[in-house]
Amino acid sequence: MTSRLIRLAVALVLAWAGAAMAPRHACRLSSPSLFMVISGVCFVLVPLLAFWPRTGRTGWMIAALAPLIAFGSMLFYVEIIHWELFPTSLLNVAGAYANPCRANRKQIEMAKTQWAADENKTVGDMPTDTDLFGADRYFRVKPSCPGGGTYTVGRVGEPTRCSLKQHVDQP
Ligand SMILES: [Zn+2]
Repeated sequence: MTSRLIRLAVALVLAWAGAAMAPRHACRLSSPSLFMVISGVCFVLVPLLAFWPRTGRTGWMIAALAPLIAFGSMLFYVEIIHWELFPTSLLNVAGAYANPCRANRKQIEMAKTQWAADENKTVGDMPTDTDLFGADRYFRVKPSCPGGGTYTVGRVGEPTRCSLKQHVDQP
């Protein structure tokens, strides 16, 4: 029993090490559901398979394969979420666009601050879109959320918000 538990622990540690060795990808694309499935295989199924056999040989062989399986699975994960035929419904598209969305909201904030200074407005005053955006305004067009959210400019002193819950800044 003890040796089986050791096999389970070794398989877990090796799987973790293998997954950690896999190269990180720079883009922020992710698929939480697929990641759950792959993690389940690497960190639950494979360690259990190493634990299960009564003969040590098979168990240790599976434990030794755990890092390779984890490493390969992570490469497969990165590769398949970039596949053009991968269903978009499984992708966290909004999460991928959180940074550009934040940059857009910063721009809107700047326009709002400038508008308040130019028009002698103070905390609580609310600009309309036509106050901020247009040919002779601070920005020609209102920035739009690349993830498909809509912006609420808000009052002076309030942050500009995006309607996507993944784009809500944590305080
Ligand atoms: Zn957004």
